[in-house]
Amino acid sequence: MSETNQQSPVSAGLAVVRRRIAAAAEAAGRDPEAVALIAVSKQQAADRVVAALEAGHRLYGENRVQEAAAKWPALRDRFPDVRVHLVGALQTNKARDAVTLFDAIHSVDRDRLARALADAMDREGRRPDCFVQVNIGEEPQKSGVAPADTDALVRACRETYGLPVAGLMAIPPADRDAAPYFALLAEIAARNGLAGLSMGMSGDYETAIRFGSTHVRVGTAIFGARPGGH
Ligand SMILES: *Cc1c(COP(=O)(O)O)cnc(C)c1O
Repeated sequence: MSETNQQSPVSAGLAVVRRRIAAAAEAAGRDPEAVALIAVSKQQAADRVVAALEAGHRLYGENRVQEAAAKWPALRDRFPDVRVHLVGALQTNKARDAVTLFDAIHSVDRDRLARALADAMDREGRRPDCFVQVNIGEEPQKSGVAPADTDALVRACRETYGLPVAGLMAIPPADRDAAPYFALLAEIAARNGLAGLSMGMSGDYETAIRFGSTHVRVGTAIFGARPGGH
């Protein structure tokens, strides 16, 4: 049975991405172990996600609270050591659900949300890692705090709300070279004393690793295309 699993497309996709992560890290003089692979399982068919779990992968990303709530509690029963990160936008009124469901939240991008998360963490007695999401290309349609306002939001998260801030997250503009945006995010993280950098997706994770990514969020390169195409 395990041999069949070894040959599943998802298992093969995971192996390729892991190999490329290791090669990119080594080329950058970094320890491959310092780059966490978040397998972004949003919208993927259940059998693909189970294939990744059976292949031994334990770190996943979802972009919607409701989808994750429908999917992960049952899978956590079968795979108790799994960790799930929220990589998508979070509404303030879902902060409590997010705190109970996720092991990290990559989309803290405003004061009101930081306050709601702090309240939810106090009530639930759970403290998922937080990443402050930066709108690194200053695109009007994207969420994230403006680069110029990031230091102030990081300070508020830490000092006013006492959130466990692990790092910064960004999605660079789709149609441009991602490298300068990754470099800028790394610079903002460094001046705030933040070690975590959630950056890099299927199309650019090797570039992100070159600029110090600690968390790559890879979906289609592992699982194949999403049914909705998003
Ligand atoms: C969907 C998504 C990803 C994964 O994208 P792929 O191109 O499939 O690797 C990564 N990060 C976020 C925030 C996403 O919404």
